[in-house]
Amino acid sequence: MNAIIISIGTELTTGQSLDTNAPWLSERLTDLGLQVLTHITVSDDVTQIAEAFEQAMSHANLVVATGGLGPTPDDLSREALAIAIKEPLEIDDLALIQLKAFFLRLERPMPESNLCQAKRPRGCHMLPNPRGTAPGIRHSSDSKHFFLLPGVPSEMRAMFKQSIEPLASQLSSGARAARSRLLVFGISEARLSDMLNDLMTLGRNPSVGTSAADGVISIRIVARGENEAEAQNLLKNDVYEVKSRLGVAVFGEDEDSLASVTGRMLLDSGLTVATAESCTGGLIAKWLTDVPGSSGYFKEGFIVYQNSAKNARLGVPAGLIDRDGAVSESVARAMAEGCRAASTCDFSISTTGIAGPDGGCPPDKPIGLVYVGLAREGHTEVKRLILGDHLTRDQIRDRACKSALNMLRLWLIESR
Ligand code: AMP
Ligand code: MG
Repeated sequence: MNAIIISIGTELTTGQSLDTNAPWLSERLTDLGLQVLTHITVSDDVTQIAEAFEQAMSHANLVVATGGLGPTPDDLSREALAIAIKEPLEIDDLALIQLKAFFLRLERPMPESNLCQAKRPRGCHMLPNPRGTAPGIRHSSDSKHFFLLPGVPSEMRAMFKQSIEPLASQLSSGARAARSRLLVFGISEARLSDMLNDLMTLGRNPSVGTSAADGVISIRIVARGENEAEAQNLLKNDVYEVKSRLGVAVFGEDEDSLASVTGRMLLDSGLTVATAESCTGGLIAKWLTDVPGSSGYFKEGFIVYQNSAKNARLGVPAGLIDRDGAVSESVARAMAEGCRAASTCDFSISTTGIAGPDGGCPPDKPIGLVYVGLAREGHTEVKRLILGDHLTRDQIRDRACKSALNMLRLWLIESR
């Protein structure tokens, strides 16, 4: 069984507001075992909407459209549905009573313009809206089902749960989907897809796909089964397979971040960390402290931006900075060691680099060159990152922080 989702509103097609209804509906319908074929976005144009409705109904078993049910002249979904199914609009007596009751409860007169919200094409059914004035509309024929829901997300979600979920469950005859998102850092998307090639074949169940954002690759796994248990089982096998192929490159799942995962590992082993940041300006400390409970492992952060601060706060010798420059392996090392000594933590992280857009001096010190230092008792490691001058200042800082947290994460895994 398949489905098509239609989002209606000129604010969506002009890019003024973001469509959050379609992804929400897609996730729900997929989990309920339906295959979502397409998302369509249409402006408030009655002809365009009617065409989209007609097309979608001819292709899918279930169509869910949202938006255009308000009382204003640009709300045209009712009219469009009437055109698409060639039925006249008429007042639904029960919907009119409910609409009047809604205003009565609020002790307000009902504006004339709201009257249109009690209308539906002949033969369609109204879906009550417990949270607002716009009822939804259902049209079913030839085992095809069409639902028109209000655009307001909270109203749409309540109505979906009440009126569509039971039917969608029935349509998929118990079939279910289960999903997981694994997060990877430190491998390129191309290399990753080589490693998972056979799992990513089109039409395979579970489906495995990747997408990259800000240096992190997400692996989406969606398993379909005849029932929940079968879907979960298929998912579990693929998650295991992907994790064993990629090893420590998989740092987490779903809403995890490198900071939250690394923080959890520190907390579990009762270890502490401090930071000494130059080019990343406190971003690592910010990320670490974004996580509730981080005072359990994060002690303090130094933002040592000027050379004099590196010397005054962390004891980085001025002569060393003069000799090698602030962006150098030796200074990153001295920063990490100085930070660890000053904070008496188990670990310290340091960053020094050229985030751009000015200040690069190729070939030795190009924009995007960052040294990340990591110190623990008796051992310091410095990594030289060439992030590339194609990245923006924000991106260079972002990647440097992620690399630093990932280095600490890998150290913690090794030492387990
Ligand atoms: P409408 O039913 O078209 O009157 O929509 C009412 C309001 O719901 C709009 O002004 C938007 O704020 C919101 N809305 C409509 N469609 C969407 C959508 N696809 N995603 C998120 N919000 C929406
Ligand atoms: Mg609208």
